[in-house]
Amino acid sequence: MNDKIFDKVNQEKKQSLKLLENIVNLESFSGSKESVDKLSKYLSEVCESLGGKTKFYPQEKLGNNFTSEFYSGEKTTLILCHMDTVWPIGTIKERPFTVEGNIAKGPGIFDMKVGITIALEAIRILNELDLMPKNKIKILFNSDEELGSEDSMDLIKEEAEKSYVTFCLESSFKGMIKTARKGVGMYYLSVQGKAAHAGSEPENGISANVELAHQILKLDSFNDSKTGTTVNIGRAEGGVVRNQVPANAEALIDLRVVTNEEAQILDNKIKSLEPVLGDSSLEITGGMNRPPMERTDKIVNLYNWAKNTVKDMDVTFTETGFPVGGGSDGNFAASTGTPVLDGLGGVGDGAHAEHEYIEIDMFHEKISILASLLANIHEFEI
Ligand SMILES: [Zn+2]
Repeated sequence: MNDKIFDKVNQEKKQSLKLLENIVNLESFSGSKESVDKLSKYLSEVCESLGGKTKFYPQEKLGNNFTSEFYSGEKTTLILCHMDTVWPIGTIKERPFTVEGNIAKGPGIFDMKVGITIALEAIRILNELDLMPKNKIKILFNSDEELGSEDSMDLIKEEAEKSYVTFCLESSFKGMIKTARKGVGMYYLSVQGKAAHAGSEPENGISANVELAHQILKLDSFNDSKTGTTVNIGRAEGGVVRNQVPANAEALIDLRVVTNEEAQILDNKIKSLEPVLGDSSLEITGGMNRPPMERTDKIVNLYNWAKNTVKDMDVTFTETGFPVGGGSDGNFAASTGTPVLDGLGGVGDGAHAEHEYIEIDMFHEKISILASLLANIHEFEI
């Protein structure tokens, strides 16, 4: 079966690349509902042409989410694809879809339009080879992953909970599958001091900036290379003018943790920060956004099964072996206890950066891999 899939994918490289081009050309900035809705309309039509039954989940401000269900069977394999990108509308004019040798470029191509294309092409290839999976396959397309999936996380968790396994088509890490991801916390720290004239009565002021400086150093001390915990103060600002003791300051904090236990400990530490300067006060809001995706036994079993399933194919299938720092919707899916393989998408580099690209030969390889996994998934036992 793997031979047939592999050969078919290689015969149809042009068609796969054409679909990728169409998807990249439909810009889909998270902040533009109109653009994401155009892409979701196009993708739902592609799904329907492949036999998918689609269901839309309309959204007021952000793009509409939708699911498309293929095949039949008792169990369901869930595939996660986010449609949105970080690139504002018009970026495509500056950096159009281009192919040069083995490299394809375009806004959002690596994160994660290549993953969407891999999912759709795997299904098309299976259809054309008449290798119908014996399980249901449901693709969930969401519109707000780059914003933290606040509005789609409940749908993701609900669908993941009902599924037998979940495949997340986010990009790979240098070609490797992601079996663990750090969890992500997002916090906002507001410091209240007391304003005073910097020349005539500085002793009556309480500098919010100095207080914030103390807090930044404290937060920075939470970084721990042993546990893999990272704390980043991504933005800090305070005060208004040079000659006033500043009354207000604020900071945005990014937290990454490997385990759920560590998430609790750090959440506690951040929320119980105390002011250092006499009468200043702190207000801390926010919390964990994506829980860590821990490398559980179930995930290891799924990974080993998958590796074994594609072993006679001329493809590479390896895992990172460490929790990657970036969060994804795989984190939400894994939090329901369903085994997740993440990073089954493209190979390349430059997510959220101007040099974003994918490797075309690996794009085809990943279609073969996913098609084989989907065709065989009924044999996997948790
Ligand atoms: Zn992504």
